[in-house]
Formats: sequence, C-alpha cells, structure tokens
Amino acid sequence: MSLKDTPRESCERFLDHAFDHLTVSPEMSQLLRSPYREIRFELPLKRDDGSISLFFGYRVQHNQSRGPFKGGLRFHQDIDLEHFVALAQIMTWKTSLLDLPFGGAKGGINCDPGTLSERELETLTKRYAQRISMFIGPDRDIPAPDMGTGPREMAWILDACSHNEGFNPAIVTGKPVELGGAPGRLEATGYGVAQITAMVAAERNMAIEGATVAIQGVGNVGAHAAGFLSELGAKVVALSDSHGGIYNASGFDVNRTLELIAQNKQRHKSIQDLNSDFDKISNAELLELEVDFLIPAAVGGVINEQNADKLQAKTVIEAANMPVTCKADAPLHENGTTIIPDILANAGGVTASYLEWVQNRQRYQWSKEKLLENLKERLQRSWNLVRDRSAKDNLNYRQAAYVIAVERIIKAINLRGF
Ligand code: GLU
Repeated sequence: MSLKDTPRESCERFLDHAFDHLTVSPEMSQLLRSPYREIRFELPLKRDDGSISLFFGYRVQHNQSRGPFKGGLRFHQDIDLEHFVALAQIMTWKTSLLDLPFGGAKGGINCDPGTLSERELETLTKRYAQRISMFIGPDRDIPAPDMGTGPREMAWILDACSHNEGFNPAIVTGKPVELGGAPGRLEATGYGVAQITAMVAAERNMAIEGATVAIQGVGNVGAHAAGFLSELGAKVVALSDSHGGIYNASGFDVNRTLELIAQNKQRHKSIQDLNSDFDKISNAELLELEVDFLIPAAVGGVINEQNADKLQAKTVIEAANMPVTCKADAPLHENGTTIIPDILANAGGVTASYLEWVQNRQRYQWSKEKLLENLKERLQRSWNLVRDRSAKDNLNYRQAAYVIAVERIIKAINLRGF
C-alpha cells in the first residue's frame, strides 16, 4: 500500500526510526501502530436558514496502557479518520514522554467553525458529545481543546455530559476557569514552547535574550509562545496567520502587536491588514527566514519535501502537531538543523490538562503560578531525558523522544499482560 505524504505516513516513519533503536517483535510493532478504537459517525445539522448540512464526528483512541485515553478535539474542514489515527498516536507518545498517567486519543468534527453561527456550533458540539458519551469519562477518555476548539466548546461538552453523569468537571480539560478550568491551562502550550526554546538555548550556551524567532500562526499556541518568548528577552521578528505574515528585523513590541492582532481578528481581518509599517511576507517566506528559532504553530505538514532545502533556521521548535513531514525530517537533520519534536515542544498543553484533571478530582484549585511552575519542572525533566538519551545513543531529538516514550508503553503493556 502506498501512503501519500500524510500525517499517517509521517507517524509510521517516525515510529520506524524509533524501532531501529529498540528490540520490538513484529506483533508488538503491530500493536503499537494500530489504534485501540476508531469511531466515525454522522452529524447532520439543521442550519439557521433551515437547510441541512451533513458533518462527520470522529474519535480515535490509540492506546490506554498507561492510563485513560487523552487528547484534543479538532474542528477543521480538511480532516478525516486518517488524520485522527496519526494525531491520536502522537498523543500516546506525548503523554508517555511527559510521564503522565494517560494514553492517547484525538477526535473532532470535519467542519469549518468560522462558517457556523454560535448556535449551530453549540448544537453540533453537544450532539458530538452525546454520541461519544459512552466512550469518554474521567477514567476512560478525557477530551481537550485542539485546533478550532477552546474553553467554550469544552464547556458545551461538560454541559452535554452532565445531564447523564452529574457534574463531573474531570470529564474534559481546557474548560473555562469558572467551570473548573485550571488557571494557566489556556497559556500552557505557548508557555511550554517558550520554556523548551529557552532550555535548548541554554544547552547551547546561547543567550535567549536577543535570539531571533519567527512564529507561524497566532492562534492560542503561537500568540502565547510569542508573549512568553518576548518576556524571556527573545526577539520575535516574524508572525503570521493563515493569510500571510509580518516581519520586523528589529523585533516587534510583542504585547502591542498581539493586541492589534486580537482587535483585527475580532473584525475578521488578517494580520497583514494591521495599520503599521511592518513588512508583509508570505507564510512560505516566513518559513525560510534565517532565524535562531523557527516555530511552526499552526497546521501540520508545512515543512515538507518541497521547502525543506530552503529552510535557514538553525532550530525548529514544533509547536504545532506534525509540522515537519517525514520526508523533510531526514534532509533537515542531515543539514544540521535541530528539530525539537512536537511530543516535547507542545506538551505543555496536555501536561497542564493533567494538572487540571488532578485539581478537578480533588475539587480544588491551584494558582496559575503554581501550575506553570509545576509544568516547567516536568518539561525540564523530559527535556533532560531526551537530551541525555540523544547524546548517549547518538540519536536525534525526535528519535530519542520516541524511544523513551515507546519503551514506557511497551513496559506498561507487558506488565499488564494480555
Ligand atoms: N490538543 C493538545 C495536544 O495536541 C492538548 C491535548 C490535551 O490537553 O489533552 O497536545
């Protein structure tokens, strides 16, 4: 079977590279690749104008050997079951690498949320939640935000599930703080990206102050990463949204720029419509900038075989899930580009989700400072493990991260038995 350069293929190849450094039987290899459960169902929606639109809902549960399935909900028009199989697998390695007591899952709806009214979205989200309610729960599978979803959607899911289950906030993470969300969860992915970037700089004896950064995507992850990196003293020189980007060689006043971007977003305008004298660049140009840190924080697959040879950044921090395809990964490593893999770089989100879940189960709330401090310690521990394993076994960081994560899963599977 020939797979295209899809997330599924990348995820298979990344796993193959880990298997090259592990002793894994063919049966175990098959078990680690195949999802535990794949769900796809119809979601017809009566639109505000009376017409009917047909969407599909998905939830792929990949592995639960170390704890309940865990992973976000993505609302995007271009997704299908194959994408969710890959993204669910990535979640298994991510939770394992961070040593969280969870497995991996991913799901969502093939809709463009920007084209739906708030009422339509609420109906669709709640219907989705009802249809998967028998498969999720605080000890079964815990959804969270991902691309196209956020605290508002998590509140709707909590509401839909509460009618049968009673009020149990641990059923979903990334909720609004008023409904049991953890202060700090919203910022956590971007905060983690910034902290990991600083850890990589420290490893190279390079000052994060003044290091140049280009960020693709100013959604929740990219915007918070920009804010925290600029707090750490880094020079953010390029930012973009799906329409294109802006560039300022001397570095943006990030807080001011993010404020302007947020105002523009409310008016449904692009980052390129900002009334300022920044240079306009395309998303392709942003990826090719000569910067210390390139941070793709939007969709997957943006660094691929077409543009890998044009990249000039010294280090790529994978804030998005799977932004570098397997066909770009090898040439980039050969050229000496450092890649910090998604399962570490953006793990701040699911780690904060774990801390939210813990607080929910205790019916207690920590301060944001406590959560971010705890998160930073966990990221530091995992980065140290990846760095040391990479040095010890002569692996690149992605291989080292996968090897650590996969070893833990195999251990858990064997301990539990068959
Ligand atoms: N969607 C995020 C991710 O890809 C967070 C998942 C979660 O918090 O469960 O890691």
